[in-house]
Amino acid sequence: MSLNSKIYEGKAKILYKTEDPEILLADFKDDATAFNAQKRGTITNKGVINCSISTQLFQQLEAHGIKTHYIDNPNPHQMRVKAVKILPLEVVVRNIAAGSLCQQTGLPLGTLLKQPLVEFYYKNDSLGDPLLTRDRLYLLELATPEQVDTITHLALKINDFLSNFFQRCSITLVDFKLEFGLDAQQQLLLADEISPDTCRLWDTHAGNDPDSWVLDKDRFRKDLGNVEHAYQEVLQRVLKAVNSNN
Ligand code: UDP
Repeated sequence: MSLNSKIYEGKAKILYKTEDPEILLADFKDDATAFNAQKRGTITNKGVINCSISTQLFQQLEAHGIKTHYIDNPNPHQMRVKAVKILPLEVVVRNIAAGSLCQQTGLPLGTLLKQPLVEFYYKNDSLGDPLLTRDRLYLLELATPEQVDTITHLALKINDFLSNFFQRCSITLVDFKLEFGLDAQQQLLLADEISPDTCRLWDTHAGNDPDSWVLDKDRFRKDLGNVEHAYQEVLQRVLKAVNSNN
């Protein structure tokens, strides 16, 4: 892969062109960032682990009727994906209060939400990814009302599936972030990744100390240690759940 075929480098992935304009290659990096890239580091083997977890989850979701950008894996830290134009939205689904929801509403950490909450954030690092109202989203023409309805429906369907799937891994899906894109045929596809970088995952078998529940990027954000071990644990449990299905 020649250097000049790189088309984009994000915080966790590099995107390369391929010979086919409808296919891109996503290379998952070990680099980790938090707090809008103010905290930087690396998590050993994160690229391979997150690529593997995302692969398994995209395959499971596809089998469940959710269209994703996933094609295949030329090697363990790379994914061939359908080229899409990413909508500049971070779609967050929450089942339990954590992170910015607690900070902005005062809800105590761990509050079980009566129903899943779907939120839209503006994917814009220089503005700090602000929470959007529907009216602001339409004002900025980030998506059409029809796309917002479809995305909300898909996000809730994905949440139902993933919550059940992770329950079989003895993991509680607290919240997660999704990104969607439009392919050459203007079809809406689930894109980016689904991994411990983009989900809050709590171990249902851990002890009383809330820090011991954390199997996701909050271990890096809060310097809790054993970050790679937690990511590996998620991968092993995901693989076990997938294999017990077959
Ligand atoms: N999230 C993400 N990328 C972002 C912001 C959030 O993947 O740029 C994920 C985050 O890991 C968590 C969920 O979205 O699983 C909700 O994050 P929250 O709004 O609580 O923000 P944070 O606490 O991460 O600042």
